[in-house]
Amino acid sequence: MSGASVKVAVRVRPFNSREMGKDSKCIIQMSGNTTTILNPKQPKENKSFNFDYSYWSHTSPEDINFAGQQQVYKDIGEEMLLHAFEGYNVCIFAYGQTGSGKSYTMMGKPDLKNQEGIIPLGYNNVVQHIGWLINQYVTLRDLSCVLTLLCPSPSLSPPQVSYMEIYCERVRDLLNPKNKGNLRVREHPLMGPYVEDLSKLAVTSYNDIQDLMDSGNKARTVAATNMNETSSRSHAVFNIIFTQKRLDTETDNTSEKVSKISLVDLAGSERADSTGAKGTRLKEGANINKSLTTLGKVISALAENKKKKKVESHIPYRDSVLTWLLRENLGGNSRTAMVAALSPADINYDETLSTLRYADRAK
Ligand code: ADP
Repeated sequence: MSGASVKVAVRVRPFNSREMGKDSKCIIQMSGNTTTILNPKQPKENKSFNFDYSYWSHTSPEDINFAGQQQVYKDIGEEMLLHAFEGYNVCIFAYGQTGSGKSYTMMGKPDLKNQEGIIPLGYNNVVQHIGWLINQYVTLRDLSCVLTLLCPSPSLSPPQVSYMEIYCERVRDLLNPKNKGNLRVREHPLMGPYVEDLSKLAVTSYNDIQDLMDSGNKARTVAATNMNETSSRSHAVFNIIFTQKRLDTETDNTSEKVSKISLVDLAGSERADSTGAKGTRLKEGANINKSLTTLGKVISALAENKKKKKVESHIPYRDSVLTWLLRENLGGNSRTAMVAALSPADINYDETLSTLRYADRAK
């Protein structure tokens, strides 16, 4: 069976200098869980959507919908982390046009206090939680039996991380940017699709990998488009994998549960026609559209199955490398959350409306 339906948050970023320079008007309103977009050309044509969370960022922190990095992590990251410790695979992804705040949400500015995003906060919390479990010798109670987390030694291995880029359906290792190759995607009979030869590092704090991550981020494929100086043309996928060993005290059987957390900063969702792209850029755009459309289809199909209480069938995971690699984190034994990142400005009306519609279909 598919997991619970996707948790969806929308987050509007502050105006940028380009928008301010054009004297742009704010077309987003948020009230409680409702986000409304105003059509700048047809003032009466407002559209409202309901999401699990609506995050506002460009007014004062007293605004009821205002949310900084900590709040976003608390609402979305912490809940997903708990699911991972319950044994689920978890996926959090950020969707939106280039410059809308996807990387800020996922990565943030890890070198600035209180500006870290979901990836560094999540990673450090996983490490802390494992340390806490070891110290507590936690006993987890199940309905049928008592499960004890086995604590073989205080040096229980830290979680493993990997970080990759998917660009034009090719996979590159961002923890080893020298490896420019096109890594092979294979399928394990139990663990599902995986990337062959992808580096996996076991580290005890985010700081230990920060330099590597920084160089990985710099190595991400970017391209100049008419719309922004640099536009992220690739999907970045950060994985955290950890294993919990449990002992059933009634039967004396031990079992292992492997949880994988995938944190995904998607390529910009802008449509090729609005960026004046030609040639290679247009081809890239077609690949990006294909994987984002497939991701949308996979999530809606899973949500539909869930509503109709059907077993999973006809989920088009294989139609893009992104969805194929995320198969175990989107369907099956998994929990998914999405943050749709929005610009507040009237000049981005079409893209913002299309992001809101995408987010709406994911629910
Ligand atoms: P994207 O990854 O979607 O291309 P970025 O995350 O790089 O966009 O965001 C573009 C700019 O806006 C960055 O300078 C970032 O720091 C800023 N920004 C984005 N979201 C927020 C936010 N919620 N609060 C403050 N600044 C933000």
